[in-house]
Amino acid sequence: MNVTICGGGNAAHTLVAVLGQQGIEVDLFAPYPGEAERWRAGLARGGIRARTPSGSLVGQPRRISAEAAEVIPRASAVLLALPAFAHKSILQAIAPHLGEGTLVGALPARGGFHWAARQSIGPSPVIFGLQTLPWACRIRRYGEEVDILGTKAVVGLATDPADRAEALAETLSSWLNVTLRPEASMLALTLADVGQLLHPGIMYGLFHTWDGQPMGEDQVPLFYHGVDAETADLLQAMSDEVRAVRTALEPRLPACDFSAVVSLHEWLRRSYGDHIADPSTLHSSLVTNRAYEGLLAPVRPREENAHDQIMGVVPDFGSRYLVEDVPYGLVVTRGIAELAGVETPAIDQVIVWAQAVMGVEYLRDGRLTGRDVGSTRAPQVYGLSLSRLVA
Ligand code: NAD
Repeated sequence: MNVTICGGGNAAHTLVAVLGQQGIEVDLFAPYPGEAERWRAGLARGGIRARTPSGSLVGQPRRISAEAAEVIPRASAVLLALPAFAHKSILQAIAPHLGEGTLVGALPARGGFHWAARQSIGPSPVIFGLQTLPWACRIRRYGEEVDILGTKAVVGLATDPADRAEALAETLSSWLNVTLRPEASMLALTLADVGQLLHPGIMYGLFHTWDGQPMGEDQVPLFYHGVDAETADLLQAMSDEVRAVRTALEPRLPACDFSAVVSLHEWLRRSYGDHIADPSTLHSSLVTNRAYEGLLAPVRPREENAHDQIMGVVPDFGSRYLVEDVPYGLVVTRGIAELAGVETPAIDQVIVWAQAVMGVEYLRDGRLTGRDVGSTRAPQVYGLSLSRLVA
């Protein structure tokens, strides 16, 4: 088994250590400028060490290259451990070098990964995606050390073709030392992504009335614990809209099982169980969830000019909570809703605000015809009709 990992960030470092510890041969495809050299410099001091709360894992890649031709052709599995906005360029780079039957997967997939992958790499490879990255992880020293801060108990995995999920979940569970649960389809995985609701929805709640003034570092709001009743209502409405999409799709795509698409409240209770002191409502499940304790809203230092003495921070609208979760999450779901004929006023409210602060345009006059739709993974980008949503 020869695995090639694509990327050079936190997830790629963690995968090198986790797979290496299992004795799996790993190559690295690192085309991002300067990263192949950084990997080599770090690795010259020994393998990657991942520090976990219960010990260390060590892995050493065999080959590192910025050229796909050097590390893709021999791979039996190619793992994209990257933010979703980097998927397309990587898929295009690896496409000419993939062998027959190579597995190509993303950790995590985010919405519509399978459509993007099919467009770039064609019909033959088996595609898979994880619902989220199994680890919370941060690089300590590039090419040398990464901290695994936590590991998810269970992570969903879907494949295209869908009937490969069970066998692949078993294989990858042992590679990654994580329990992977087979999900019915990549479409169900796309709709079941709760990050697309929580992250942009809470950003909206915290900052849609922001007055443009910098705040002191001690004034940065808590992210999940800062959710007020009004934002909780908005999240509930967004979650209801996704459930309405499920309800509309079920009779029209009878071959597809959408049972993974549950309400946000139910997902929180299932995922966090005893961590939630008061699980009675969606709001209480967020603000009394110990797992979310202390997590702050994303902010960045205020841009200053030489004469400006005012210090402080401002909301970070370039955060992954928007730049990943909107075009590769919420807009994808919005596109599916449009095909299913489901109205999504709450989701639209968040997208309209998000696109303004991000300086892009997805929705125009209530339809996905904005100038930047082509950079998202909405099904409309791939010319998909409702019946072709489950490829
Ligand atoms: P990261 O920020 O560490 O990854 C950045 C890497 O992506 C870069 O080092 C580069 O290799 C690559 N990259 C960025 N832009 C690129 C481009 N334009 N072209 C090619 N390559 C590019 O991200 P991460 O922490 O490794 O996260 C990977 C994915 O996992 C993301 O989707 C993230 O949201 C998700 N995730 C991460 C964590 C975590 O704890 N790190 C937890 C949950 C989910």
